[in-house]
Amino acid sequence: MTTIKLHNTKTRHKEVFTPLNPDNVRMYVCGPTVYDRAHLGNARPVVVFDVLYRLLRHVYGAEHVTYVRNFTDVDDKINARAAADGRKIGEITEETIGWFLKDMSALGALEPDAMPRATAFIPQMVAMIEDLIAKGHAYEAEGHVLFAVESYSDYGALSGRTVDDMIAGARVEVAPYKRNPMDFVLWKPSSGDLPGWDSPWGRGRPGWHIECSAMAYELLGESFDIHGGGNDLMFPHHENEIAQSCCAHPEGGFAQVWMHNEMLQVEGKKMSKSLGNFFTVRDLLDQGVPGEVIRFVFLSTHYRKPMDWTAEKAREAHYILHRWRQATLGIKPSEKLDVNFLSAIEDDLNTAGAMAELHLMARQGRRSDLLRNARFLGLLDEENDDFFPVTGTGLRHEKLDALVAERDEARARKDFARADEIREFLLGLGLIVSDANGKTIWHMGPDFDLSKVESLK
Ligand code: AMP
Ligand code: ZN
Repeated sequence: MTTIKLHNTKTRHKEVFTPLNPDNVRMYVCGPTVYDRAHLGNARPVVVFDVLYRLLRHVYGAEHVTYVRNFTDVDDKINARAAADGRKIGEITEETIGWFLKDMSALGALEPDAMPRATAFIPQMVAMIEDLIAKGHAYEAEGHVLFAVESYSDYGALSGRTVDDMIAGARVEVAPYKRNPMDFVLWKPSSGDLPGWDSPWGRGRPGWHIECSAMAYELLGESFDIHGGGNDLMFPHHENEIAQSCCAHPEGGFAQVWMHNEMLQVEGKKMSKSLGNFFTVRDLLDQGVPGEVIRFVFLSTHYRKPMDWTAEKAREAHYILHRWRQATLGIKPSEKLDVNFLSAIEDDLNTAGAMAELHLMARQGRRSDLLRNARFLGLLDEENDDFFPVTGTGLRHEKLDALVAERDEARARKDFARADEIREFLLGLGLIVSDANGKTIWHMGPDFDLSKVESLK
């Protein structure tokens, strides 16, 4: 029997994972606030928890795993964007959700089983808030409802901070209606131009944290297995989720295992608009960096380590993927996963170790194994073939086709001098060229430049 070990932020230990119910393994991951394209950092938790999802499905069976990732489609950042652009909120959120799904699918991420939108769960949020007030954990003040942090003695346990530390370190919003500066908003009033729903406290909208608590309860119950997100969410978002959920449903334990991915940096620096190194997943895809290359680079670093995105890593990943795709062309994948490969993944998602095993398989010429195991990680998928086009697909160019045909003819009549000449020429265009059954096969290499082909006469 396989043993999955996961690092649990709550206990600060790597633990053997034992699901509450192996017939229904449940995972919740905080999803994006939808007002803009996902930046490259946003893609990291998506890829990390996609690997975990694949592992859980492998071990417990696909039909025994439920993965929920929400869309936060009510938030002040969305309101601000709508006001600035003079557009409807619903239009912005729908458009952004569409972009997100498309971009993440380009990275080979499977869609979760449920992708709830916060705005579809307002009655459940209102009910949870009413319950928290009734149980003495929340209070109404000036049209707001606030969670009383002092009413929950374990507040701060996840991130290991005391309330005093938190007040000192956090940018807490001081407001006259708060009993304690750490108290956080469950509900706030909406003026006429802002999205709002009727509630016992007047027309208003939910705070961010209650959204996840209500959706997780509705879709996964009062206790479930894994809760994930980037480590920037640990405090306050996840502390607040725990406080709300454990106070509303003291009979449950909320999430058993908390997992947090480290942040992504770019060329050794924090990704930020002011440093000019901020880019979206779509920017990279549009520059011709295949989603599979992004995925490869991400998987090469363990999720609990900071990940440094560099153009050099992307180039190298592109090149290796070309070689692997060529080596596995027409090959049948092995039936079974490699033992060392799987034990790396099971060891707290050691994808870096698993990637090292793939490199080893490639070096040892174990092509069927390479294909089987790489596909487990969402690499070398058949469906992705369009980004490594083989002769005659993807890229068509009259002159290029003619050259390839001429080379095949030259080889057929054993004019190897001419065949090699054409091969050199194709290589010079940045194509990767190989032969199969007397036919020239080419892929676009990392240095491939479409304009060079366009300018062929
Ligand atoms: P947000 O839409 O800002 O709530 O972020 C969505 C997800 O992306 C959360 O799980 C964040 O923790 C994660 N995230 C944001 N920035 C980064 C980054 N630079 N590196 C890794 N994950 C990030
Ligand atoms: Zn959340």
